[in-house]
Amino acid sequence: MKWSFKLGTVAGTEVRIHLTFFILLAFVALQGTSDNRGIAGAVDALLFVSAAFVCVLLHEFGHVSAARGYGIRTPDITLLPIGGVARLERMPEKPAQELVVALCGPLVNVAIAAAISTCLGLGMALNPDFHFEQSGRFWEKLMVWNLLMVAFNLIPAFPMDGGRVLRALLGFVVDYEKATRWAANLGQGIATVAGLWMLLTGHFSPVLLLIAFFVFMAAGQEATALSQRQIIQGLQARDAMITDFHSVSEQATLRDVVDILLSGSQHDFPMVDAHGSLVGMLSRQRLISALSEHGPEHPARLVTESCETHIPAMMDLSRALAALDAAACPALPVMDTTTGRIVGLLTSENIGELLMVRIALRPRR
Ligand SMILES: [Zn+2]
Repeated sequence: MKWSFKLGTVAGTEVRIHLTFFILLAFVALQGTSDNRGIAGAVDALLFVSAAFVCVLLHEFGHVSAARGYGIRTPDITLLPIGGVARLERMPEKPAQELVVALCGPLVNVAIAAAISTCLGLGMALNPDFHFEQSGRFWEKLMVWNLLMVAFNLIPAFPMDGGRVLRALLGFVVDYEKATRWAANLGQGIATVAGLWMLLTGHFSPVLLLIAFFVFMAAGQEATALSQRQIIQGLQARDAMITDFHSVSEQATLRDVVDILLSGSQHDFPMVDAHGSLVGMLSRQRLISALSEHGPEHPARLVTESCETHIPAMMDLSRALAALDAAACPALPVMDTTTGRIVGLLTSENIGELLMVRIALRPRR
C-alpha cells in the first residue's frame, strides 16, 4: 500500500503503518489535552489509542494464523486510521475455511475482553453508567473497545468479517458467485442506509461516514474481483503474457536500455545471459533512478534486480495474477519450464486487456 512504511516482520508477515495513521494520533493527542488535562491528558489518550491498535493488530493476526492453517500466506498487514487490513495471498474459497478465517479475528477480541474482565472482576465494566469518554479507567475502556470491535466487525457487510461470515454461510446453500453477489448487495445496502441515516438525522461522525463509503466501495470491488476470477478461469499464464518483448544482454549499458525504452512501449526488461537464461529484471523506475545516480555508461547488470518469482508458462492464470500482486516487480518473467528460457512477460496491464477482450466476447444474454 502506498504512503505506508514498515514497522517490522512477524512470522513472515510485514506489519506496515499508513502515514494517515499519524493524523489520527495527532488528533487524539489534541483531544486528550482539551478537557484541561494538558500533557497528561494527551499521554493518556495516546496510550489508549496505541493499546487499542495493538488489539486491532492481534485481531488481524487471528485471521492470518487461521489462513496459514489452510496454507494461505499473508504478505502484509497495514494499520489504517479506520482499522487493520491483512492482505491475504488469496481468499479461501471453501465456505467452511472462509468461515473459520473470518471468525478467528473477532475471536481474538473476545479472548482479550474475557482476559481483561477475568483479571478485573467480571461485570465491572458492563455497568450501565459506563461512559467511553470518561478519562482514566484504561482497562475498562480497553475491554469495551474489544467488545465494540467484535460487534462492529460482525456487521454483515464486506469487507467486514461479518460480510465474509455471511458469504460463507450462504456458500453452504448456493454457489460461490451467488453467495458473493448477495453478500455484496446486502453490504452496499447496509452502507447506503447507514450513510443516509447519518446524513438525514445529523447524527453522524466523519469517521463512520467514511467507513460507510469504504464499505460500499469494497463490496463492489469484491463482486468485480470475483467476476474477474471467473472470466480468467481455465486460462494459463501463457494466454495472458506479452510475447513480443525485448530482453537486454549482460553487457548492456543503461544507455542501451533507455534506447529500447524510448523506442517502444515496454517498461520492464528481462536481462538474459549468453545462454538465454534469466539474470534478473530491470524496471523503468529502477532504470530512471540508476540513470540519474550513475549516468548512461553504467553497466545495466549492476542495477538489475534478481527476480525471485518466475511464472511457469502453464501456471493457472489466477495463481499467476496473485503472484504478480504479491511481487515487488511490476512485470514477472514467464518461463518455459522444460528449456528454462524466458518466453514472455506478465504485467497487470496486459491481464487487464485480456479481461476487456474476454468481456467483449462474452455471449450476450
Ligand atoms: Zn477482521
